[in-house]
Amino acid sequence: MICLKVASDLLIFRHKPRVFAVSPNTSAAAWAVACLIMLVSISLTFVVVSLTLGMPLAMAREWHAVQGDIVRVETALPGEHASLRCFGKSWPVKAGATGHWIGWIGVDLGQKPGDYTLHWTSKTRKASGRLHVKRGHFRISRITVKKEMAVFDARALARIHADHASLRKAYGMYVNAKPDISIVRKPLNGIVSTPFGARRYVNGEPRSPHTGLDIAAPEGTPIVNPLAGRVLLVKSMFLNGNTVVIGYGLGLVMVYSHLKSLHVHEGTWLKTGATIGEVGRTGRATGPHLHWGVRFNGARVNPDSLPVRVGGRKKQGT
Ligand SMILES: [Zn+2]
Repeated sequence: MICLKVASDLLIFRHKPRVFAVSPNTSAAAWAVACLIMLVSISLTFVVVSLTLGMPLAMAREWHAVQGDIVRVETALPGEHASLRCFGKSWPVKAGATGHWIGWIGVDLGQKPGDYTLHWTSKTRKASGRLHVKRGHFRISRITVKKEMAVFDARALARIHADHASLRKAYGMYVNAKPDISIVRKPLNGIVSTPFGARRYVNGEPRSPHTGLDIAAPEGTPIVNPLAGRVLLVKSMFLNGNTVVIGYGLGLVMVYSHLKSLHVHEGTWLKTGATIGEVGRTGRATGPHLHWGVRFNGARVNPDSLPVRVGGRKKQGT
């Protein structure tokens, strides 16, 4: 009120104001300093009281991600059967120490940048967090292929649509597995020829972004299963070539394309370290490479953001 009074006095140039708590000669600057001191005192009091009572100053924890990331989140939440929701979906959680929960969220490649709320719910309590999603910086990739692999006739289009339908079905299949999404190793060591998210141009025409990671290696190099899982689809596809889809549970599904040949079978369980196939150049490929794609609960995520266990122990931050 005093501040407002001073402001109004200054605005209408009243030289002899009638209401003043201090000397009439006090300058506006002195009043501003007094107001500032008062605000700082109130803030400090709040901090001291909060710390004394053990109240958290920030009610919600915050997480940062870019498009295509898998984010590991956690919360302290007493009670059993915690569940986690974000982007309108449920995400897998794992119990940590007593009253502590760990969860994973997949940020789709096309997720709009912005702030999202994550909701934790246990039998008796609720908690929330905030996820900041930033735009990913994806490079441009240009490839040149034979005309029939860029402009499709009716027969090719029918095959492409059937291939997409098979993939969609496989991505939605349920696989029962342990609650962990950490892989033991990458399926192939080699040079990344096209990174995840690359904006692609085929024969100069813009195409949908690259939803996997292309790893180049000599033809015939074994591709190793990074985690135990069930073979959901084995198919020779028009663009993806010889393709194997494996489900690892908790909505984690991986696709391996352009293989030299197909020799695993749908419905079988593949152990960690088992051979999925060999590097080839079937389908639309400019050289021998593996296209490794990862879907997590329907989100198209960067294979490089999967947590990797080293010697049975997880890398820092995973
Ligand atoms: Zn690819």
